[in-house]
Amino acid sequence: MKIYLDGEFVDKDEAKISVFDHGLLYGDGIFEGIRVYGKCVYRLEEHLERLWYSAKDILLEIPMTPEEMAEAVCESCRQNEIEDGYIRLLVTRGKGDLGLSPNSCPRATVIIIADTIRLYPEEHYSEGLSIVTVPTRRSGPAALNPAIKSLNYLNNILAKMEAAQNGALEAIMLNDQGYVAECTGDNIFVAHKGVIYTPDVANGALRGITRGTVIELAEKAGLTVKECNMTRHEIWNADECFLTGTAAELIPVVKLDGRVIGTGKPGAITKQLHAAFHEEVSTRGVML
Ligand code: PMP
Repeated sequence: MKIYLDGEFVDKDEAKISVFDHGLLYGDGIFEGIRVYGKCVYRLEEHLERLWYSAKDILLEIPMTPEEMAEAVCESCRQNEIEDGYIRLLVTRGKGDLGLSPNSCPRATVIIIADTIRLYPEEHYSEGLSIVTVPTRRSGPAALNPAIKSLNYLNNILAKMEAAQNGALEAIMLNDQGYVAECTGDNIFVAHKGVIYTPDVANGALRGITRGTVIELAEKAGLTVKECNMTRHEIWNADECFLTGTAAELIPVVKLDGRVIGTGKPGAITKQLHAAFHEEVSTRGVML
């Protein structure tokens, strides 16, 4: 496997960064997870746009243009002969001294890993997931804004561990006000009486690219999508529930906190959007 590291392709075992990199010392950096379907990089421009937004938020200068980054992403896939896969793109603050200040880091480090990913076992896509709400809250926008796709994922990792302690593969995280924010690595949707609802991103969610795709596809199919405040009550009593994310794609949820959602099987709207999603990813992307 060849890894892109600061302008060069190096063997996986040689792909090393400094222990003084602030990405490691402080989680100071940003990232994207991007899918490749049938030799096409899915919604690459949108991922790069979000990467540049995250960089702006943390005052990080990415040492290349979006066009150069797009080419580096595509070349990483070509070098690794990726046809269907997953790209992890990281930009860290770079090497500095032991103080917190990024001023000691003259140049950001860029890393691109082109590999494959499977987040959940296949049967959960057909049968649905059983998930739980966990005590760890999503940080508010005045702390580490969840809109920033930062390298500091401890908040989500704590929630993921709490899910595992309760026998679940994914967890719902509430915000400080007790409204549903998102899951540890996915956005959440419900369907009730034919209408689709998802927490507004202001409730503490990442503006997921897959979330955006699903909203687009639902509206194209004539369904109404409402972005709103959501409590667990709305999920427990929904007809259907599903999660979206680049790695997870679209996965049904059939149980939350011991409450069966709807019939306890993936619902019709979930199945319809799942099919539309797989149709869309096979027809849209930057060719390698
Ligand atoms: N929320 C969080 C916390 C995430 O890390 C992710 C991505 N893994 C998502 C939502 C989904 O975003 P996307 O659809 O852009 O992958």
